[in-house]
Order: sequence, then structure tokens, then C-alpha cells
Amino acid sequence: MTKILAINGGTPVRTKLFPAYNTIGEEEKIAVMNVLDSGILSQFLGAWHKDFYGGPTVQKFEKDWSKAFGSKYSISVNSNTSGLFTAIGACRIQPGDEVIVSPYTMSASALAPIIYGAVPVFADVDYDNFGMSPESIEKCITPRTKAILVVHIFGNPAKMDEIMVIAKKHNLYVIEDCAQAPMAKYKDKYVGTIGDIGVFSLNYHKHIHTGEGGVIITNNDDLAERCFLIRNHGENIVYPKGVEDTFNTFGYNFRMTEMEAAVGIEQLKKLPALIEERMANADYLAKEIGEINGITAPIIEEFSKHVYYVQAFKFDQEIVGIHRNTFINAIKAEIPSAVLREDTPLIGAGYVKPIYLQPLYQKRATHCSFNCEKYKGEVSYSKGICPISEKLHFEELFTHEFMRPGMSKEDMDDVIAAFNKVASNIAELR
Ligand SMILES: *Cc1c(COP(=O)(O)O)cnc(C)c1O
Repeated sequence: MTKILAINGGTPVRTKLFPAYNTIGEEEKIAVMNVLDSGILSQFLGAWHKDFYGGPTVQKFEKDWSKAFGSKYSISVNSNTSGLFTAIGACRIQPGDEVIVSPYTMSASALAPIIYGAVPVFADVDYDNFGMSPESIEKCITPRTKAILVVHIFGNPAKMDEIMVIAKKHNLYVIEDCAQAPMAKYKDKYVGTIGDIGVFSLNYHKHIHTGEGGVIITNNDDLAERCFLIRNHGENIVYPKGVEDTFNTFGYNFRMTEMEAAVGIEQLKKLPALIEERMANADYLAKEIGEINGITAPIIEEFSKHVYYVQAFKFDQEIVGIHRNTFINAIKAEIPSAVLREDTPLIGAGYVKPIYLQPLYQKRATHCSFNCEKYKGEVSYSKGICPISEKLHFEELFTHEFMRPGMSKEDMDDVIAAFNKVASNIAELR
């Protein structure tokens, strides 16, 4: 009998590549050319001087960002990763401390505490929300806990009310990793403005980008000053500026250039419309793909605004009768899973392997942190410590980016057709 599914040699639903996601236009080109014409590509000075805070474009970008998000301070940096390092330093994290982190996120969100000699402790994620579970966070608290590093994973706000109650009760800082969630809202508040510090990413893969880049936001004067110092050679500044508390204020060079800031100013203007398009596309795909027996569309609380960095569905092997990986491989055969290059998949089984399973944690491969004499705790990174993350990653979750702006209804209908085709020919995959 001839087989129908493309993975078995049948004709695929579509071979034409999907449109690339490109938000860079004339506006960014003109803005960068203006900076190039000025000859000043960065105006930072690592000394206590008016240029300690950077040049006019960097400062305008920060002002625009603060206005858009309603924060008192915005501190631009050269990545979200360096922004998280800065935030951890600003919160006075030191060797011997513990920071509660998520296992189901990009690796940088868990690494930041290690830079300051502290120990990341992994809380499990919520089965429906995929963000850190408040119950699990509570269980991770010890006398050494100093902060919770929350991630609004996939663009969906974590359960911030419950998390803030825990933080207040135990007097902990809350740092929000908003790399995937610019302008996501939790009960009318932008994520990043609920905890003490929020950190955004402007790398090429994010909603908007400057090539590489990031922004830290806070309403706290003390934390903001410490972030400015850590971003730009704080050790040179503390004495002339008269900074009393110098704890962790030695600095790095995490400065953004004038060109990146110029791109950022234009990109920020485009963000609201890009998010609306993502949300509308995601909504359409959720309704259609979520209809398939055994596939569950993301659950979004009615007071949350999910901005869809990716869209994550759950797959029930019991109902469908095959493993998720087999199903996703069959989808990948039906439609091109790449946009620009064949090696950038737009759909994947799971997301990233739970972070504690990486060699860094398994081998405890740092000289301080876990092996530090100041550390009096005992942290576990064994397989099984976060069972929900493991179950989601290895069995149930799949993520895709077919809701990116630029996808037409016809493009999305091809994606839906691929899902329906595979779902109605499951017998071929058993
Ligand atoms: C992209 C990402 C980061 C890292 O961002 P960079 O700007 O590349 O450093 C951190 N956390 C999350 C959740 C991310 O998605």
C-alpha cells in the first residue's frame, strides 16, 4: 500500500520556505547612517564624567524604553546575559548565597548567580504555565536564599502574585528575565516592573533586536546606581562619585554602542504592532491545532498577556498513540521547518534540556560556587529533581515559531494542514 505521509515517502504539504522574520527596514538604516556620519560610534567613558552614562543615542534609547515600559530607570547593556550578571551583582549576591532559578529556560538565566560565586537552586515549572511554580520555589528556600530569578518563558508571564508573596515573606530580591516577554502583561503590569529588576534581550532571535543587546529596568534608585557602576568600570567611579557602599560595584564593560541604540530606538517603535500580529497568529493556530485530539493549546490566564516568543503545545502520547518525537518528525517532513537556513528549525520537540543536566552542573565545574568554602548548603542537580520540567521536555511539550509576523493566513493554513494530515494518518507511524 502506498504511504501518504511525507516521512514515509508521500508528497509533502508544502516545500516552499516560509517568509523570513525581518523587522529591519529603512528607518534603522537611516538611524545607523546618522550615527556613522557623526563619527562617534560609542560615547561611553569609564570614568566619573558626563559620558559615564554614554552618548546621546544610548541615553535617548534608554529614555524611550523607560517611557514605553513605565519604569524609572532603563540601563542598556550589550546582552540580556550581561544584564542578568549586572542584576545579580546589584542585588549584592555573593559566595555562599543561593538564587532560585528555572530549569526550563535559556542557559544564561541560571548561570548569572555563578558569576558572583553563588549557587543556583532549580525550582520546577508549573505544568500548565511552564513558568516557575510558586509551590516549588517555596520548597527551595533555605536560610541562604537571597533572590528568585524568574523567567517569563515563551512570552507568558509567570505566576507573579504568588511569587511576590513568597519573596516578601522571605525578604528576597526578585529579578525577572523578560528576554522572551517584552510588553507581556500580568494584571495590567508589564513584566519586568513587578519584581525589583527586569532584564530584556535584544539579540537577533528576539521580538525586536539590535544584533546583540539588552536593557535592564528598575524603579529602585540604589539598584539602578549599582547597575550603572557594574555596566561601566565601577571600580574607577566609586571614589570620585562618592559611593559609600562599594559591595559588588566593581565593573565590567557591558556598554551598548550608539549604532545599536539607534537601531533600538526604531525597533522599539515597531514592538507593539509586532506583538499584536504574533498574538493574532498564535490565536488562530491555537484554535485550529488545539482542535486535534491529544494536542492542547497553551493555557493563558485571563489577566495575562502572552506575547509569544514561541508557542508551546502539550502532546498526549496516550491519546495519540505514538511518541511526540515521532509526531514532530512527521510534521517536519510535511513543511519546511526552516526560514533562512536549513539548520534553524521553526518547530521542535521540547525546548531546551533541563539546565541542571548540563555538564557544568553535573560535574560542578566551577572553582567557586558549588565548591566554595563559604557555601554551607547542599544542592542537588540529580536527574529527577524537577520532574515536571523533565516530563514536559522529554515527553509532552513541543514548541514552534509559525506565529511570527510575516506569516500569512495561507502560510499558517499549510502548517495546520500538516498537523491535520499527520493526525489523520497516525496509523502509518505506529
Ligand atoms: C535569549 C535569552 C537570554 C539571553 O539573551 P542574550 O541577549 O542573548 O544574552 C536569556 N534568557 C532567556 C529566557 C532568553 O530567551
